[in-house]
Amino acid sequence: MIETLTILGGGGWFPAHGRQTACALLRRGEHAILIDAGTGVGRLVERPELLDGIRRVDIVLTHFHLDHVAGLAYLPGTLRVCEERTVWGPGKLLYGRSTRELLATVTHEPFHPVPFEDQEIDVRDLSGAPFELAGVEIATRRQDRHSAPTLGLRFGDALAWITDTAFDPDSARFAAGCRLLAHEAWCTTGRPRNIDIHSSAAQAAEVAMRSEAGSLLLIHLPPFEHDLDVLVSEARAVVPGTIAAEDEHDYSELFEGPVGAPIQGVH
Ligand SMILES: [Zn+2]
Repeated sequence: MIETLTILGGGGWFPAHGRQTACALLRRGEHAILIDAGTGVGRLVERPELLDGIRRVDIVLTHFHLDHVAGLAYLPGTLRVCEERTVWGPGKLLYGRSTRELLATVTHEPFHPVPFEDQEIDVRDLSGAPFELAGVEIATRRQDRHSAPTLGLRFGDALAWITDTAFDPDSARFAAGCRLLAHEAWCTTGRPRNIDIHSSAAQAAEVAMRSEAGSLLLIHLPPFEHDLDVLVSEARAVVPGTIAAEDEHDYSELFEGPVGAPIQGVH
């Protein structure tokens, strides 16, 4: 069972209004998992105690857009304290090229001076089959409704993580019965933006309703908005209690509900 979930970067595309880009920290015992490695990785310098007692870190990437991998350049300054470090990516699975090969481009000169091999960071490909990290079974799902394919992630019955996709009815099946659904919310119905590759707050709420997730956390928030009230209100009209992710906040309490407790929605 995952013990803690801390959002390190709740924003999408670029950092703004105090939100770094895509990164979340899960902890269980001496093992940590980072979901994506956006600029939020830098929070680990501001909050080094988040890694207290952690020996092993696995970074699981949903895709390779820069707002999800820029923080890989920060690893020499943030994760050196951990003995074992592995990056898992969907290179072969989604793009037919190994994750090692794809990341080598941006983690070597002329982009970056300290390649992974000099940091003893292992790089592996996700196979598409369920696998286990920190004693948690992780399932992946190919999402074809972004500008390039992305992966949805599911961590046992605790958490489904769905980002960088336009609304996809199949997301709800993948997330069915999770205690917490973290789903991107890029805009509102009234002010749509990139709706062919991203989801609105109402669509995130619809996925939560259909999946009967216990709670809904909005992630990959738009950098254009300082105030997220309209976004949150739109989701809450369907899923009361919806929360917009705040950087550095711990959302572990959202795992505490029973599995599959249906959200009390407005029908
Ligand atoms: Zn993104």
